[in-house]
Amino acid sequence: MIIIMLGAPGTGKGTVAGILQEKLGIKQVSTGDIFRKNIQEGTKLGKIADSYISKGNLVPDDITIGIVENRLKDDDVKDGIILDGFPRTVVQAEALDKILKESGKKVDLVVNLTTPEEEIIERIVNRRVCSNSECKTIYNLQLNPPKVEGICDKCGSPLVQRKDDNEETVKSRIDNYMKQTSPLVEYYNKQGNLYNAVVSKSINKMGKDVAEDIAKMLK
Ligand code: AMP
Repeated sequence: MIIIMLGAPGTGKGTVAGILQEKLGIKQVSTGDIFRKNIQEGTKLGKIADSYISKGNLVPDDITIGIVENRLKDDDVKDGIILDGFPRTVVQAEALDKILKESGKKVDLVVNLTTPEEEIIERIVNRRVCSNSECKTIYNLQLNPPKVEGICDKCGSPLVQRKDDNEETVKSRIDNYMKQTSPLVEYYNKQGNLYNAVVSKSINKMGKDVAEDIAKMLK
C-alpha cells in the first residue's frame, strides 16, 4: 500500500502519518526528516538541503527524487510506505509514478489535508517536536501540549522547535506550496485516489480524528 500525505505546511501531515504508521503497520517516511537528519550530521546533502530549507524553499527535484528512489528499495517498505511530504511538485509526482510502475506498484491513496490559512501560522510557531529520531512525536503548545513542559510524553526526550518553524520562513513555505505543490491536488484527483480532509480547530477536527477515519476506511 502506497499512501501519500499532501497538504500545506502545518496542516498535520506528520501527525496523521505517524498515527497511520502505528495503526496500519506501514512505515512513515518523511523527506523533511531525512533532510533534517543530514543537516544535523553535517553531510554534503545536509549542507545543500539547508541552503534551501532555511529560506523556506524546496530542495531541487533531482536530489529529492534520488533520495526517495533509493529509500523505496529498502526492505522495511517493501509491503507499503506512507510518504510524508513527497511528492511536492508535479515533476516529483511523475517520477514517483514511473518508479512505482517499474515494480508493478501505484499510488493507492493520497490524503489531502487542508487547514484555514489563518490557523496555519499559529500552528507552526507553536509546534514542538520530540528530538528522539525514533519517536518524533509532534506537539502543539496550545492545542496539544506535553504533560511536562519541554518533555515528550511518550519517550521523555527533550522537545525542540524546528529551525524553519518561524513566521518569516513559513510565509515563503506557504507561498511555495501554493505555486509548486497545490497543482498535485488536481493531478491526483484525475487519478481518482484523492481523499480530502479538513483539519481545523474551528470545526473541532484534528489530525488524530482524520487518521482514525482513514484507518477505519482502509481496514
Ligand atoms: P517538512 O518536514 O515536510 O515540512 O519539510 C521541511 C522542508 O524540507 C521543506 O520546507 C522543504 O524545504 C524540504 N522538503 C521536504 N520534502 C521535500 C520535497 N518532496 N521536495 C522538496 N523539498 C522538500
